[in-house]
Amino acid sequence: MTSDLEAQLRAVSLRVTRPRLAVLATLRDHPHVDTDTVIELVRADLPSVSHQAVYDVLRALTDTGLIRRIQPAGATARYETRVRDNHHHVVCRGCGTIADVDCAVGHAPCLTASDDHGFVVEEAEVVYWGTCPDCVTKRSEEGS
Ligand SMILES: [Zn+2]
Ligand SMILES: [Zn+2]
Ligand SMILES: [Zn+2]
Repeated sequence: MTSDLEAQLRAVSLRVTRPRLAVLATLRDHPHVDTDTVIELVRADLPSVSHQAVYDVLRALTDTGLIRRIQPAGATARYETRVRDNHHHVVCRGCGTIADVDCAVGHAPCLTASDDHGFVVEEAEVVYWGTCPDCVTKRSEEGS
């Protein structure tokens, strides 16, 4: 699996380093985590890695398109390795849990705006807000 991640780094001309591999592996296994969680998880493998090193890796991976940065309104930025498919997210108002939602029909139809005003559209940011199953259960238990 590691060689797979090494190939991803090489494909975008990034040097293969242990922090870069660790961040990619972390995000592959834990999609939609924030920076603090990435640091915590990476340090389980590489205890000596600094906050700044992780910030730098996240920026390099985002800039080269290997990871995607999402930031629902009012939430901290999250990162994921699922890129280039313009998928959307459903976010829980209660606990902040995030899950992937495919485009409603076909391949990224949201990129075809009903009126693009002449813009070249590259991304459609759609966020579904709601309450996750855990929070629904918790609420109904509290209410009973
Ligand atoms: Zn929730
Ligand atoms: Zn996602
Ligand atoms: Zn869509």
